[in-house]
Amino acid sequence: MTMPNSPKDLYRPRRAEIREVIVENSQIKTFVLAFVDRAHNGSFTYQPGQFMMVSVPHCGEAPISISSTPADSGTIHLSVRRAGILTAALHDMKQGDMVGLRGPYGRPFPMTALAGSDLLFVAGGIGLAPLRSVINTCLAAGHDRRITILYGSRTPSDIAFQGDLASWGQTAGVNCLLTVDRSEPGWEGEVGLVTGLFAQCALEPDESKALVCGPPMMIRAVLAQLADRGFADGNIITTMERHMKCGVGICRHCHMDDKLVCKDGPVFTLEELKRLKVMELRG
Ligand SMILES: Cc1cc2nc3c(=O)[nH]c(=O)nc-3n(C[C@H](O)[C@H](O)[C@H](O)COP(=O)(O)OP(=O)(O)OC[C@H]3O[C@@H](n4cnc5c(N)ncnc54)[C@H](O)[C@@H]3O)c2cc1C
Repeated sequence: MTMPNSPKDLYRPRRAEIREVIVENSQIKTFVLAFVDRAHNGSFTYQPGQFMMVSVPHCGEAPISISSTPADSGTIHLSVRRAGILTAALHDMKQGDMVGLRGPYGRPFPMTALAGSDLLFVAGGIGLAPLRSVINTCLAAGHDRRITILYGSRTPSDIAFQGDLASWGQTAGVNCLLTVDRSEPGWEGEVGLVTGLFAQCALEPDESKALVCGPPMMIRAVLAQLADRGFADGNIITTMERHMKCGVGICRHCHMDDKLVCKDGPVFTLEELKRLKVMELRG
């Protein structure tokens, strides 16, 4: 028998069953998945920041970050924003339906390097998905330095991962702040861009690492704010999104200069990105 992920089987997805669908908001659902092959499900492992290639027959395949933590063995969480054909098909699926999964792929967040630092997480919208994996992994490991989480949504109804946000807000040593672009009746929290929350944070750039995920415009604004506050480029870590076909460094569809988002990323430091012609960094 040929082993999956040998070169011959590089593109062959494994069947995975949807065990649960969590509606995060009108645009985002989290799918709790388990591989049908029990042996594989038991041995499957990954690191925060890695992604899976998810496929639905006749609808295509796309990279989706793993939003659960490796310690949640037995299931994988993929949080999916409705964007096009594949993600719309996923949003129509229910408990018991099957999808195809390949992976995990990509360079993860540098978890060992994060362990000894204060951590600042800045996310917008679905950008919290990969950071959720990092945050919950750090908390499970007993991270003993300060954690600050800044999360921005378009409106209060768009706030995703509400259970996590509530639990982080109640965790000792964690400062979790939310803001929305546009208020709605009943919202008494902050209104404005996520960068507006920086004023409420005590940050020590020399002791900190910042992890930033979200739409390109938000990333640009946050990187500028972090530079103003004295964060070194090597201590700013973000993720890049590019359309990709293979996920394994063969098609080169996701290249940024000589780097590939699927293999060299999706996690990059700002120091690394500044060496590339990355449109997200252009003013
Ligand atoms: C490493 C990585 C991790 C990701 N993680 C997540 C995640 O956790 N959750 C999540 O929801 N999404 C995630 N994405 C984004 C997701 O892979 C894309 O949104 C994907 O395109 C959705 O597939 P689709 O078939 O539904 O939409 P598509 O049909 O691919 O369309 C999505 C959007 O892209 C546009 N588009 C389509 N083809 C092209 C093209 N060739 N060039 C430019 N624009 C095009 C479409 O007009 C549409 O606006 C991630 C992407 C990467 C690279």
